[in-house]
Amino acid sequence: MIDTHVHLYDQAFDPDRDLVVARAKQAGVRHCILPAIDKSTFRAQNKCLELYPGFCHKASGLHPTSVGRDYRQELDFAYSKLEGAVAIGEVGLDAYWSREFMDEQILALEEQVQWARELDLPLIIHSRSAFPGLLATLKKCSFPGMRGILHAWSSSAEIFREANRYGYFLMGIGGVITYRNARLAEVVKDIDLARIVLETDAPWLSPVPFRGQRNESAYLEHIARELAKARNDNPDRVIEHTTQNALSLFLLEKK
Ligand SMILES: [Zn+2]
Repeated sequence: MIDTHVHLYDQAFDPDRDLVVARAKQAGVRHCILPAIDKSTFRAQNKCLELYPGFCHKASGLHPTSVGRDYRQELDFAYSKLEGAVAIGEVGLDAYWSREFMDEQILALEEQVQWARELDLPLIIHSRSAFPGLLATLKKCSFPGMRGILHAWSSSAEIFREANRYGYFLMGIGGVITYRNARLAEVVKDIDLARIVLETDAPWLSPVPFRGQRNESAYLEHIARELAKARNDNPDRVIEHTTQNALSLFLLEKK
């Protein structure tokens, strides 16, 4: 399995990060993608990448909730750290926590989509309470070869399909699929398995039966199993396909 979205450098893992990595490997996780947040998390992210080479892979970008008055400096910083990145991320729009810098969030997203174009890299996209803006931006900035993951998907199949009119996007499925009232279980039935990847978003969004506790990559198998159940499919097949989708998107094991 591949955890396409994990903040392994978060301080929640400081006490036992080696054990968390060991458990992930034990559970069958082969690679982790570590999305960036902002300048303040860069050091920790970088250290993690150095500690687990070949297992942890780098994404560089500016998270929408970190877009503020100083976003110009933050963007320049993220751009200067792109070397070795397998993706641009995480980027996107977030109107849930605050709308104060929404114009700047859109500008930051547009610019980072240009980086993806320039460097021919996939995007890891975060979108919360901001789908009209996201779709408008993807439409405006669309280019041939635009691709990526719509991470922590919790919206409809229709919105997912609309995003896919502008690029080749995969649906990032995480712990939310295990929540009892999640309509996501209905949504994933209609999505081609070639378009789905697994993620934990650890340390957040723990799947059942760990909901409310710290999340970790080893729990990916619970997500895979629940995804298979929702699709009336075989867990092994779901794991095989989602792994292949992630390997192809990030060009892992080919370098
Ligand atoms: Zn994230």
